[in-house]
Amino acid sequence: MRSILVINAGSSSLKYQLIDIDTESVLAKGLCERIGIDGKLTYKPTNGEKLEKDAPMPTHQDAIAMVLDVLVDPKIGVISDMKSIAAVGHRVVHGGTKFTKSVLIDDEVIGMIEECVPLAPLHNPANLMGINACRAVMPETPMVAVFDTAWGMSMEPKNFLYALPYEIYEQYQVRRYGFHGTSHMFVTGEAIKRIGRAGDPNVRVISCHLGNGSSVSCSKGGKCVNTSMGLTPLEGLPMGTRCGSIDPAIVPFLVNRMEKSPKEIDTMMNKKSGMLGVSGVSSDFRDLWAAKKEGNERAALALDMFAQGVKRLIGGYSAEMDGVDCIVFTAGVGENDAATRELIMQNMDYLGIDFDFELNRTCPRGREVVLSKPDSKVVVMVLPTDEELAIARDTAAIAL
Ligand code: AMP
Repeated sequence: MRSILVINAGSSSLKYQLIDIDTESVLAKGLCERIGIDGKLTYKPTNGEKLEKDAPMPTHQDAIAMVLDVLVDPKIGVISDMKSIAAVGHRVVHGGTKFTKSVLIDDEVIGMIEECVPLAPLHNPANLMGINACRAVMPETPMVAVFDTAWGMSMEPKNFLYALPYEIYEQYQVRRYGFHGTSHMFVTGEAIKRIGRAGDPNVRVISCHLGNGSSVSCSKGGKCVNTSMGLTPLEGLPMGTRCGSIDPAIVPFLVNRMEKSPKEIDTMMNKKSGMLGVSGVSSDFRDLWAAKKEGNERAALALDMFAQGVKRLIGGYSAEMDGVDCIVFTAGVGENDAATRELIMQNMDYLGIDFDFELNRTCPRGREVVLSKPDSKVVVMVLPTDEELAIARDTAAIAL
């Protein structure tokens, strides 16, 4: 058996998944939390009982060592020894313009990821901690970095540039990068296969990754044409707690009027805005629908603003690509929230969409399903995203 360990390291947490790459099945997954504080390990083998234990893990290296120990544990482990981990795939948030695809990690790659730290000062250092910890604990195992920004690297300058003085782009690399790239790439690739258009350079897909963070991306022939997140994940749709696109002049306006620092306004835009900020109720769509049912007008307004935002992006991207062949819904809201999908899909027949509202209401949650009627010109579907599998596939393709 050849397995791939997928690692998604945060500053004090580390998510992992062990995937049998030949069958593409998950052997075990889990989480290390509160690294450097006290430490808690969660471990869930696919065919076994979930384990949760408090365990001191001062560093990411301790966390990885603990994960490996439990994976090879004679009683509850899922592999006999570490040799069956053929490679490790690391999620890296920002690859700047340096990385257009996943790469085998060596010292030079690590240096280049370090150079991207100013673009993602919270995420890249944490991702690097995960990489360095794994390299220390399993020095013989090949490692691959999979970048969330790589998907956006096929955008043309007319779509990735902001209309600021050109030197700002040249000196500070300020441009649209886009995020959720691994998810957009995965569901787009799968959708193209499902509609029988694999290898077609003209197939146009709009992927709607709608969750706590949300972005919409459009692609031709499986290559990103545009995407709604920008230099940072703040741009685009209103999200759980992020404001999405606003007039940029609001920031200096509020700095003056509220006598707050740019940092404080930034925190407000990231943590207190979006669905939570507008509704005053919650960032969670389940709570918002419940509040709307009880007559809460601001919850209803937040849901309308979100659906309108997605609709506007679908319309804009269809115009940009001279049409669309397939629209995919994915992530927490996209896969589970039929009411939000219904709101988005109102009056979309102008695009050639014949949406099956009845099926949308009755289909099981979180499963792959085609929601357009058979003679709809545009196929609309729900496709559960699987970023870990996408990382494992790339890792296997590069390292094995
Ligand atoms: P994600 O960031 O992809 O994990 O998505 C998380 C979000 O999905 C949550 O904040 C909820 O708003 C939403 N969500 C998950 N399950 C449901 C559901 N059954 N109905 C409506 N929204 C859901």
